[in-house]
Amino acid sequence: MNYLSTRDRTLRVGGAEAVKLGLSRDGGLLTPEAIPQIGEAFLEELTGASYQERAAKVMALYLTDYTEEELRTFAENAYGAGKFDTPAAAPLRKVDETTHCLELWHGPTSAFKDMALQMLPQLLSAALRKTGEEKTVCILVATSGDTGKAAMEGFADVPQTRIMVFYPRDGVSAVQEAQMVTQEGANVGVCAVKGNFDDAQAGVKRIFSDESLRKTLAERGYLLSSANSINWGRILPQVVYYVSAYCDLLRDGEIRMGEKINFCVPTGNFGDILAAYYAKRMGLPVGKLICASNKNDVLTDFLRTGVYDRNRPFHNTMSPSMDILVSSNLERLLFDLSGENDEEVRGYMEALAESGKYEVSEKIKAALRERFWGGFCDEKGTTETIAQYYQKYGYLIDTHTAVAAGVMEQYRRETGDRTVTVFASTASPYKFCDHVLRAIGQEPRGGGVELLDQLNAATGVAVPKRLAVLKGKARRFDLTAEKAEMDNVVLDFLR
Ligand SMILES: *Cc1c(COP(=O)(O)O)cnc(C)c1O
Repeated sequence: MNYLSTRDRTLRVGGAEAVKLGLSRDGGLLTPEAIPQIGEAFLEELTGASYQERAAKVMALYLTDYTEEELRTFAENAYGAGKFDTPAAAPLRKVDETTHCLELWHGPTSAFKDMALQMLPQLLSAALRKTGEEKTVCILVATSGDTGKAAMEGFADVPQTRIMVFYPRDGVSAVQEAQMVTQEGANVGVCAVKGNFDDAQAGVKRIFSDESLRKTLAERGYLLSSANSINWGRILPQVVYYVSAYCDLLRDGEIRMGEKINFCVPTGNFGDILAAYYAKRMGLPVGKLICASNKNDVLTDFLRTGVYDRNRPFHNTMSPSMDILVSSNLERLLFDLSGENDEEVRGYMEALAESGKYEVSEKIKAALRERFWGGFCDEKGTTETIAQYYQKYGYLIDTHTAVAAGVMEQYRRETGDRTVTVFASTASPYKFCDHVLRAIGQEPRGGGVELLDQLNAATGVAVPKRLAVLKGKARRFDLTAEKAEMDNVVLDFLR
């Protein structure tokens, strides 16, 4: 199977190459040329299988230049007992008769980014072998918190790779910072940037487009790449858990074969919900895809009007991993809904770059209305949803998950649709202790990782082991840089 650029269909590469490159050289996203179809027999087979086997089977449909055997080994390494704290890897929790929560934070960093970032380094290592690449790949990451840690955890001590993470000095939670500066591994680097997430992100983009810097690094034997969700190697492992959730519902007798279910996903860069869309396109019986945003509601407006307009204030919210105004992966959806019309997609992306705005065709608007429903949950709604889930169901959820739960309720109220619905839980509540404590009526005492104990004492919910040990861990990184110095940080790192 080949991968095409969303902006120029004539640019095509194989799966391994797509994983290695991350992005097409024309700036487009590499996207599968065809969407493999699955039927009832496939789902039946998977229903009796482990998460690792499900992952290998689903991924093999797309990565035809990897063997299923290879993929099974990768899945064992990624989702096995050494890494995930439950054999199911991505378990469902039943909330009520028609509502189930897909918990995606049982991996090493307690956020759903692990689902993909435990897999991507292995896909990338194999891709280097398969494409005869001799350089060492250096992954550069700008993070608002979750991606950086998950990427380091995935890439730590992976041969022929280095990883450098930049985070905004005052823009991540105390637990997130502690997770990053204590990261182990000989090939990792961490640097705080004086500025916000956009500054860190702009700095990384500048480094990527600096030809002379790239040349210097190439002479030293390094190649830059990205672990961002524009990389197909991050989207594909996420398709797996939607198929897996369906199989779990079948196995537990919650639905019958062929019955449609809805997915509701808390959305930022549109990666996670795009994976749900691919699962639906593959033939998984899915009704509506409910796209949940926080106060940064650019996607809600887009799904309702067909106009994408990033010209609006940026809000810092208590669900920071969803604070985003340009959702990169939407480009892959537009490519598919336009009938793979690269010229049309290029037009939208040019308009976005020039004026921050575009309006899609009537055909795409109709397709969006049929498949998606968009809503947003503000700060008050997020807090109330956390409180409500805790009081009514005894279920402690994080701020991002609460956005999804809140929007799911809105959807049901407005449409009356009572289809069985699975909403995604993307982080452990322990990553955002202060907001969660306040939501359940407790004043956070002190800051930093002490709040883990306070939340634990208040609720009795177990602290994820990998977060609990943070308190005793030595800080390994203490580097802070001006945003203009980030290129020197990289040059020092790759001596
Ligand atoms: C990254 C992230 C999201 C948003 O996922 P996208 O794929 O960017 O849409 C939601 N919740 C959490 C906790 C995240 O880390």
